[in-house]
Amino acid sequence: MISVEEALEKILGYVQVLEPEEKPILSCLGQVLAEDVYSTIDIPPLDNSAMDGFAVRAEDTYGASKSSPKGFPVIGEVAAGSMPDKELELGTAIRIMTGAPLPKGADAVVQFEDTDEVTRKASGEDSCLIGILRQVERGLNVRCKGEDIAKGALILRRRTMLRPSEIGVLASLGCPTALVIRRPIVSVLATGDELIEPGQPKLNGKIYNSNTYTIAAEVLRYGGIPEILGIGRDSVESLNRKIDESLTSDMLITCGGVSLGDYDIVKDVLAKRGQIALWTICMKPGKPSAFGVIRQGRKRLPHLGLPGNPVSAMITFEQFARPAILKMMGKENLAKPTVQAIMDDAVENTDGRRIFARVVLNLIQDTKVGEEYHACLVGPQGSGILTSMAKANGLAIIPENIPGVKPGDKVLVQMLDW
Ligand code: AMP
Ligand code: MG
Repeated sequence: MISVEEALEKILGYVQVLEPEEKPILSCLGQVLAEDVYSTIDIPPLDNSAMDGFAVRAEDTYGASKSSPKGFPVIGEVAAGSMPDKELELGTAIRIMTGAPLPKGADAVVQFEDTDEVTRKASGEDSCLIGILRQVERGLNVRCKGEDIAKGALILRRRTMLRPSEIGVLASLGCPTALVIRRPIVSVLATGDELIEPGQPKLNGKIYNSNTYTIAAEVLRYGGIPEILGIGRDSVESLNRKIDESLTSDMLITCGGVSLGDYDIVKDVLAKRGQIALWTICMKPGKPSAFGVIRQGRKRLPHLGLPGNPVSAMITFEQFARPAILKMMGKENLAKPTVQAIMDDAVENTDGRRIFARVVLNLIQDTKVGEEYHACLVGPQGSGILTSMAKANGLAIIPENIPGVKPGDKVLVQMLDW
């Protein structure tokens, strides 16, 4: 049995960052940039107005106030999307809308609220004249050319993950596509003679295959593309056929068949078609997990053999498959977020494995210590009880080298939903 850390290190050693692909920016959400992005333009492209109002020379407004407004002849108008057709003359104003380029000669914008625009309009007075009710400084309500992005500057670094904000920045630079590390195709194979698919009639002795769906959903959630291979039966021939189908993908995840039962043949097939890098990990649930590489010609396909029990499959996926997928996608932060919490229940550790206990984490107000996270068990912790995963929002980690925890002890909780 090897530790969780050793197993993860070994697995990550076998998976590589994938190649770049160029795609429309919207479909790059969650992927990382494969190159630095420089700007070829200034943003904003020109000095422009941050308000609807009047472009003026600041100096001309000096002395204006509510009690002593200053009148300005309005000599023109400029809307967003068009260029000013006039220069500002001394002592005049040009009507300007938000985003419109500042006319030559203007150095400030007086917003409508600081003029008599509203009362003048309401009383039907001459719109060729405007009263300005305050003095303004140069630069007021002016957005300067290049203040957000300067032409030639490095805007997004290689390996940056594209969130909605980065996708917006790419759009504002005028890029319709981006070069990103491609998403891995992950084959998902359930194994077991007892399995039937949801939608099939229920038969005695059979159970519905859930692992394909939890694991494929996890693959999707972390950015991979699941390729569902269906159910492999507990025979070497069936398994070999399914493995053949997985050879064009970037990783194979199987569920089940890696324990010591009479029909647990996944390891044997893996050993025959490649090499087992590890088997059995010091964790609970999830001990009988395997990892290796399937060889076919020049192809080397990483194969993660998860246990069949639905909870074990999910928890081992989180610890090993998730970081492997993130690494293939070029991501650098592979750790799952954790928080310190107070355990509300006891958990016994009887055989020196690291326990991942399903908990609900709540932020509790304590009059003495302030805010504290508390973790309580969701109920029975059997590795077949998949509803415990549906109830939990975190996994409390009970280290392998302690006999357990009691209520009030501090634990680290790995968050499932952050
Ligand atoms: P195994 O690791 O193949 O011995 O399976 C362990 C337990 O998990 C058995 O009770 C299986 O019936 C169950 N199991 C295996 N694969 C699945 C699956 N795809 N969906 C639901 N339960 C499964
Ligand atoms: Mg089985």
